[in-house]
Amino acid sequence: MKDLANLIDGHLQPAAGGRRLDVFEPATGVVFARCPDSDASDVDAAVAAATRAAPAWAATPAEQRARLLERLATLVERELDLLARLESQDSGKPVKLARSLDIPRAVANLRFFAAAITQWASEAHATDGVALNYTLRQPLGAVGCISPWNLPLYLFTWKIAPALAAGNTVVAKPSEVTPCTAARLGELAIEAGFPPGVLNIVLGDGPRAGQPLVEHAGIKAVSFTGSTRTGAAIAAATATRFRKVSLEMGGKNPAIVFADADLSDANLDTIVRSGFANQGEICLCGSRLLVQRSIWDAFVPRYLERVRALRVGDPQDDASDLGALVSAAHFAKVTACIERARAEGGRVLLGGEALRIDGRCAGGWFVAPTVIEGLDNDSATNQEEIFGPVVTLLPFDDEDEALALANGTGYGLAASLWTRDLGRAHRFGAKLEFGIVWINCWLLRDLRTPFGGVKNSGVGREGGFDALRFFTEPKNICIRLD
Ligand code: NAD
Repeated sequence: MKDLANLIDGHLQPAAGGRRLDVFEPATGVVFARCPDSDASDVDAAVAAATRAAPAWAATPAEQRARLLERLATLVERELDLLARLESQDSGKPVKLARSLDIPRAVANLRFFAAAITQWASEAHATDGVALNYTLRQPLGAVGCISPWNLPLYLFTWKIAPALAAGNTVVAKPSEVTPCTAARLGELAIEAGFPPGVLNIVLGDGPRAGQPLVEHAGIKAVSFTGSTRTGAAIAAATATRFRKVSLEMGGKNPAIVFADADLSDANLDTIVRSGFANQGEICLCGSRLLVQRSIWDAFVPRYLERVRALRVGDPQDDASDLGALVSAAHFAKVTACIERARAEGGRVLLGGEALRIDGRCAGGWFVAPTVIEGLDNDSATNQEEIFGPVVTLLPFDDEDEALALANGTGYGLAASLWTRDLGRAHRFGAKLEFGIVWINCWLLRDLRTPFGGVKNSGVGREGGFDALRFFTEPKNICIRLD
C-alpha cells in the first residue's frame, strides 16, 4: 500500500492531524494508496513556507528558475512509463493515453514555461519625448493552484509551471481522487533541487484543504480548474478578498458536422475520439454531436460502427481504448444521467449500461460508450455536463439552426466544426460562443495560444504569455526625461 506525503518547506510529511484518505484504483474498485487528509493547519504551514521562500525565489534570475523547471521536466521524462502506469492506475484512464498525452504533456508544460520566461521582455515606450514608460511584471508572492482528477499531472503542471517560472512560490492542491502523480512530482522537485518552500503540495479534499487554501490571507492568487459548481464557490469565497482568480470550469461542447465535411475514416475517428477519449472525461470532449440532416442517414451508421469498435477494458492493458470511470460516485452520476436521458425520451442507440469486465477488473467502474438521439437541446441531458462516455446526436438543417443549437447552453468552453467551406469555417467560427474553436480537428494544442472558456466555463485565460500575465502584477514606471 502506497502512503503518499505532503511536500511542505522541502519536507515530505503526513497531514499534521495524522488523518488519511483512501485512494481507489477505478479499474478494480480496490484501495491501493492512502493520501494525507490535510486540513487548515497543513495549509497554514505550506503558505508560511511559500511566503518565506517568496522574496529569494522572485530575486532568482529567470534563467535559473527555468533551469530548475527544465531539470524537473527531464526527471518526469525519465519516469514517463512509470508515471503513465501510475496515472492510469489512479484515474482509470487507458495507459496508452497517459503515455501518449498526459505525461508527455506534463513534460511539455514544464519545458514550455521554462523557455517562455526567458523570452518574456518588458514593454517600454516614450511618451512624446516627455517621459519614458516601461512596465515591470512582478511575481505576486505565494499563489494557490487547485486541479481536478481528469488529467491529473497534465493540469497540475499546466498551473505550477507558469506560476514558478514567473517567480511565484506555490501551494498546490491536486484532486484527492487522483493524488499519486502530483505526490511523485513533489519528490522529483526535491531531486531537481528546488529550494525549500518554493513548491509546496498539500494533499486532501476540497472542503478541508482546498477551501482553507482559497481563503488564506497569505495567498495572492488562485488558479483553479474543476467543476463549475466549485468554481462558483471559489469565486464567492475570493470576491471580497480582492485577489486574482482564474477559473477553468465545465463544458457542454458541440461537435458540428456539415454536409460538406470531409468524412474520411481518419476524420470520423477524430470525431469519435472527440466524444469518447478518456471515457469522455475531458472538459473539451464534444458531448453533443450536431449533424446536418441531409447526411444524417449516411453518417449515423458509420459513426455508430466506429463507436462500437472502441475497446473498453483494463486501463493497464495497451489494447484498451477506454478505461474505467474515476470513482464510484462518478460512475453513479453517469449511469443516473443515462437513466435520466431515457426518462426524457432519449433513444439509446448504443451502450446505455454499466459494463462488467471479467478478471482483475470485475469490481471496476466501467460504462459502455453510449450514443443517444431524440432529445431536445434544452433537455437536461443536453444542458448539463455528464463528463462520461455519453454523446447525444442532434440534427440541424442550416447554419442558423446549427448556431442556435451550438450556442444554446450555459457553457462555452470548446467547439469543433467540420466543413470544407472555408467561408463558412471563418464565418461560423467567429459566431460560436466558445473560448476555443477547432476546425476540422480536435484537441490540437499549441501551448502559445490562449486557453479557456466563456459563460459558465471560465473566467480568464491560461496558456502562453496569458498564463505568465496572470501570475504577475504589471507595474507602470514613468520617468520624466527633461
Ligand atoms: P471539482 O470541482 O470537484 O474539484 C476540482 C478541485 O477543486 C479538486 O482538487 C477539489 O478537491 C477542489 N475543491 C473542491 N471543493 C473545493 C472548495 N470548496 N474550495 C477549494 N477547492 C475545492 O472538479 P473535478 O470533479 O475534480 O473535475 C471535473 C470537472 O473539472 C469537470 O466539470 C470538468 O469539465 C472540469 N475541468 C475543466 C477543465 C478546463 O480547462 N476548463 C479541465 C479539466 C476539467
